[in-house]
Amino acid sequence: MSLLVVGSVAFDAVETPFGKCEKMLGGSASHFSISASYFTDVRVVGVVGGDFGDDDAIVFATHAIDTTDLEKIPDGKTFRWFGRYDYDLNVAHTLDTQLNVFADFKPKLSDRSKQSRLVFLGNIQPDLQREVREQVPNAELVALDTMNLWIENTRESLLRTIKGVGVVIINDAEARQLTEIPNLIKAARTILSWGPKALIVKRGEYGAALFTSDSYFAIPAYPLESVFDPTGAGDTFAGGFMGYLSSQEKLDEAAMRRAMIFGSVMASFNVEEFGTARVRRLTHAEINERFSAFKRMTHFDEIPFERVAQAVK
Ligand code: AMP
Repeated sequence: MSLLVVGSVAFDAVETPFGKCEKMLGGSASHFSISASYFTDVRVVGVVGGDFGDDDAIVFATHAIDTTDLEKIPDGKTFRWFGRYDYDLNVAHTLDTQLNVFADFKPKLSDRSKQSRLVFLGNIQPDLQREVREQVPNAELVALDTMNLWIENTRESLLRTIKGVGVVIINDAEARQLTEIPNLIKAARTILSWGPKALIVKRGEYGAALFTSDSYFAIPAYPLESVFDPTGAGDTFAGGFMGYLSSQEKLDEAAMRRAMIFGSVMASFNVEEFGTARVRRLTHAEINERFSAFKRMTHFDEIPFERVAQAVK
């Protein structure tokens, strides 16, 4: 039971139609690890600056997240992301990205981290993702996320990184941009042809789909009446997905399908409040209740069509 994540640990400034927050803990590795910590032991690889205080780090400690490999550069500044959402909360508008300490980061994993069974290469430069991936050659499952910035600016490096992973977890716009194919099913086939065994396409309020070479599985999103801040929903989904898999012995398709539900459950909580606020105070009972709601929401009886045909005679 051990799950390693590399990704950004950030200070986010976010504006949505419902509110504004000038500085809060964010970053792909933060959202991912808090979510995954409800299922398994998590270790974070990343870097922060001298401006990252004990108050910011406390959430890792209270969720038993191992930060041995979270380096601190005392005279550097923490990664910053400035984003805005309009009424279409599925689309994030990046106003500014400041890499700061990530610009010169060279990840060096501790011996314990190198033994991790599962690895998540969270959204960060693909060179860094690969440097981490290469230090965990025996991992049983490696998954990756990315975003438009890296698809546009570091495409070749990203394609090399994708070739070395088992699962790609991206959103629909990224799948289209990455492949330059507008049809999502064709885009999925193309990504799978590059090497990964599975592809998960996140579709915001419309749910998520899992593609393998011979199967397709899709789920809706949990129906919420009020969505406040979608920042980190994708990473929180990935945290629930990988966290659940990490708790399982068999990483087969049945486990992946259940993991998709746990990913959606965690993401549905994430969007209810700013940043990590909602997910950091979840209870097991709340997670369980929403998991059951998904089961009820997606259940239907199979009936032989002859019975329908008889009724119309
Ligand atoms: P998500 O909403 O799950 O796609 O991810 C949002 C999180 O990603 C925010 O907390 C940001 O700090 C982080 N983020 C935004 N842009 C980048 C980037 N270029 N590299 C790494 N992390 C980023």
